[in-house]
Amino acid sequence: MAETADVVIIGSGIVGSSVAYHLAEHGCTNVLVIEREAHQGKGSTGKSMGGVRAQFSTPVNIQMSRYSIDFFSHFDEVMDHPADYRPHGYLFCATNERHLEYLKTNRELQASLGVTNVELVTQQQISEFVPQLRVDDIIGGTFCGTDGFVDPHSVMTGFMLQARSRGVKLWLDTTVTRIETGPTRHVSGVVTSRGNVSTRTVVDAAGPWAAEVAAMAGATLPVEPLRRQLVPTEPFMGLPQRFPMVIDMSTGFHFRREGKGILLAWNDPQEKPGFNSDFDPGFIEKILTRAADRVPCLADAGVNPRRAWAGLYEMTPDHHAIIGRSPEVDGLYFVNGFSGHGVMHSPASGRIAADVILRGYSDLIDATQLAPERFSEGRLLHETAVL
Ligand SMILES: Cc1cc2nc3c(=O)[nH]c(=O)nc-3n(C[C@H](O)[C@H](O)[C@H](O)COP(=O)(O)OP(=O)(O)OC[C@H]3O[C@@H](n4cnc5c(N)ncnc54)[C@H](O)[C@@H]3O)c2cc1C
Repeated sequence: MAETADVVIIGSGIVGSSVAYHLAEHGCTNVLVIEREAHQGKGSTGKSMGGVRAQFSTPVNIQMSRYSIDFFSHFDEVMDHPADYRPHGYLFCATNERHLEYLKTNRELQASLGVTNVELVTQQQISEFVPQLRVDDIIGGTFCGTDGFVDPHSVMTGFMLQARSRGVKLWLDTTVTRIETGPTRHVSGVVTSRGNVSTRTVVDAAGPWAAEVAAMAGATLPVEPLRRQLVPTEPFMGLPQRFPMVIDMSTGFHFRREGKGILLAWNDPQEKPGFNSDFDPGFIEKILTRAADRVPCLADAGVNPRRAWAGLYEMTPDHHAIIGRSPEVDGLYFVNGFSGHGVMHSPASGRIAADVILRGYSDLIDATQLAPERFSEGRLLHETAVL
């Protein structure tokens, strides 16, 4: 007999897993998650830097972070699984008045939305966090002590284990090849490499591949993949054992400790949208130049190119997630386009998506802000604090 499900979720990364968990939490347990890889976490989730922060510049991102960070702080008890949430903070460092004003404005907005622990810090305070930092041109910054890091793979696993314990099914090694719609343009099922599944509701949680999945139903979705590269150093004891994520706003270079080494990140503005996720060895020199400029002792850090990696961001035109029902195909929902924030916003996005699917609205945020129609209606959001 053909399989049926109340909801089919395409993609079992951190976002699909969170949607599955939140649906099950709301009592919707006849849910099937379909993942083409043999293991979870092979998409963007397994490539992430694991950063979580509330220091954003738009209300919707701040609200989603606030909910999510609180969720991460209770994750281990609630999910009976570790999130490895480390509230080591994010430290933004400004080298010009424009950036400092921007941080101050954001801080006021963050406080008005309940994130009251973002501190303005002086050059002197910044160098106390990381004495090895070159601070001669830094004029100040902001620090939020509840920002920090999680283990994305562990969070994803925790969501899925809890979802499955409530009855959600997970099909691995199964590719969705088509989304079927009836004459009224309502979803009627999906075709997969393991057979057909009847369903009236499909959730596209396919990360960087979300637009391809939308197209399977004849829907359009402005989500583009963009390569993003990370470089870990060999064990390096020239920096403190514990320090925040440090962001050099003059270049966008940022770094944090990862075990015995340091994880170096920088968003190369020359990167063009596409599915190429091979690591480019030429990136190492680019990032080390910026690293050594801000932290001179990092010039001595060893780097093994074989340990560096690349993955794909899922970019939208306004760098905000798309969460909501498709205006073109009834029964099709989107939860994607996180533009680099899908790990940190996974608790909120799963909750908002489950609310919208089951009730048509969310009381966590005004979800219409993230609806896909905002692009055709010219209601774009503007987030400039993208790392
Ligand atoms: C290098 C890097 C660093 C990052 N750092 C951070 C960070 O510090 N903080 C943060 O919050 N975010 C970060 N991100 C972004 C974050 O990783 C993503 O936003 C998040 O993982 C998206 O999760 P997802 O579940 O939507 O997508 P994915 O994890 O990509 O999951 C989508 C899944 O869909 C499956 N799939 C696709 N098509 C099909 C199909 N037809 N049939 C079946 N299955 C299908 C894929 O196999 C995949 O497993 C980073 C990303 C990268 C690449």
